[in-house]
Amino acid sequence: MSFACPVGDQRLVLDQVVRMPELAKSNRFAEASVDTVDALLHAAAEFAEGELAPLNEVGDREKSRWNDGDVTTPGGFREAYAKFVEGGWMGLSAPVEWGGQGLPHSLTAVMMEDFNAANLAFALCPMLGLGAIEALEAHGSEELKREYLPKMISGEWIATMNLTEPQAGSDVGALKSRAVAGPDDSWRVTGNKIFITWGEHDLTGNIVHMVLARTRGAPEGTKGISLFLVPKVLPGGERNDLQCVSLEHKLGIHASPTCVMAYGEQGGATGWLVGDELAGMRAMFTMMNNARLNVGLQGVGLAERATQRAVSYALERKQGQRAGLPMRIADHPDVRRMLVRMRALTMAARALAYYAFGQVDRDTLGDREAGLRADVLTPLVKAWCTDVGCEVASLGVQVHGGMGYVEETGAAQHLRDARIAPIYEGTNGIQAADFVSRKIGLDDGLALDGLLADVRAEAQHEQLIALADAVEVLVTSAREAEPNDRLAGSYALMTMTAVLTAGWLMERLGRAIDSGESDSNCGRRAAIEYFLSVIVPEALGLGAAVEAGAELLFRAPAEDLA
Ligand SMILES: Cc1cc2nc3c(=O)[nH]c(=O)nc-3n(C[C@H](O)[C@H](O)[C@H](O)COP(=O)(O)OP(=O)(O)OC[C@H]3O[C@@H](n4cnc5c(N)ncnc54)[C@H](O)[C@@H]3O)c2cc1C
Repeated sequence: MSFACPVGDQRLVLDQVVRMPELAKSNRFAEASVDTVDALLHAAAEFAEGELAPLNEVGDREKSRWNDGDVTTPGGFREAYAKFVEGGWMGLSAPVEWGGQGLPHSLTAVMMEDFNAANLAFALCPMLGLGAIEALEAHGSEELKREYLPKMISGEWIATMNLTEPQAGSDVGALKSRAVAGPDDSWRVTGNKIFITWGEHDLTGNIVHMVLARTRGAPEGTKGISLFLVPKVLPGGERNDLQCVSLEHKLGIHASPTCVMAYGEQGGATGWLVGDELAGMRAMFTMMNNARLNVGLQGVGLAERATQRAVSYALERKQGQRAGLPMRIADHPDVRRMLVRMRALTMAARALAYYAFGQVDRDTLGDREAGLRADVLTPLVKAWCTDVGCEVASLGVQVHGGMGYVEETGAAQHLRDARIAPIYEGTNGIQAADFVSRKIGLDDGLALDGLLADVRAEAQHEQLIALADAVEVLVTSAREAEPNDRLAGSYALMTMTAVLTAGWLMERLGRAIDSGESDSNCGRRAAIEYFLSVIVPEALGLGAAVEAGAELLFRAPAEDLA
């Protein structure tokens, strides 16, 4: 089934939620005129539909393959990547002084949504590079920037992110990789990293690994971590002391090589500090915050793709009769429920994710409040949008019936691919903990309170107002609760806040459609109404889970749950 990027829906969100014309009034984003944005939306769609989507199933089937340390990508990936570089896609929002185009991050978000929808395994490769560019620009030395940024921004070289080790997953502070100072300003890095996305491949001549390691005498935990840039090929052209030892076999994203990496088996891989010694987590967070928002977009992209596939199938497939005529399954109320729900969740997740990127853009323009709001929104986008990706992809399988469970239709691949997004870049449980431990108190609570006040000022739908009331009360009591009780209710409170924020933005989209500012079809308007009337009240029902507290969860020993 062919895939069409939702250019109209994206344009609506860029206008009403990101408010792109406002951004384009600034000197920094003056290039983001209506015409440029339109041209970009269509060009990204054309690349996603024409080059990446046709490789999605090929990549799933052929997978990336390991042979003696080298990794070969599936047929067509090298050519598609070369076109990606040629198109200048990597540098869309990167700084102009290093060869980027300096456009708003919200436009890179549109591009990433399209590429994720078309081919998630491919899109993961540039996705991690985007965060690395930001981290290097913010924390790297001038020399490192000069050597690496231009090629990373052109896409000629691509970057990876190396945190995870067997004993250090969510607990990044437990990592053991080491770095010792070399004779010059370089370091020798040793250690083993697991699960490194696109850690080795044949798409680029060099791979720039961003590696977390401990220096001699560093304190335990995250305070003792430093970030190093460790290239596969050293500036002089020799191979660095690092290699991909094997690839993981996994549920989905088969074309994306998930690598076990060994650094320094011959004495030490040469690397350079990014930022100060022991300040690695700060630099890594620059990279991770970008990646977390981008992982949220993976949920959006897959939800869009799964929805289009399901609607198309439901219009064709006939089961049952009405008035003596064969019925399309799309006309059975329960199938229609699934289709409307899929469209509603997809639109809402897009609105929430783009809104966060719009706040990042305003932060770039010096709006501190917007920067804090982006911080509050990051766990919501990462967790809720990826949960939406899984729910919608799962509904997509359901709409297809048995044909969804077998591989021919492609619906199953979306579900398999979607399932990783709630796990990596900090599991959604870690996002929930971040939300209730840090984000609800950010800037003395003013960051979240400001968001809730803005929702209140605009919300008109009765159910949305009820949810806003509930979230305000629950946030206030969460701020005062014992840490364990707060954590026990964290996932539910995060979800409620995400649905509330998305509902607020959906209502805004609905008003734009009603006033004729958008030519969206009535399916979009109906999906918005469904979100406000059905999904918002569902979130209200999560209040019990927020309030239940830890005692209910720990009443019995975990062993008794076996
Ligand atoms: C396909 C794939 C690609 C990946 N790509 C990369 C990459 O490029 N670079 C990289 O560094 N890593 C990467 N990862 C690793 C990924 O980020 C980790 O798997 C993830 O952070 C979870 O760590 P873990 O697997 O050790 O799970 P664990 O940390 O063992 O977590 C297991 C469960 O316990 C929960 N849990 C653990 N601690 C807490 C806590 N404090 N509070 C609440 N719940 C908790 C988790 O939410 C989860 O449900 C990738 C993983 C996969 C599978």
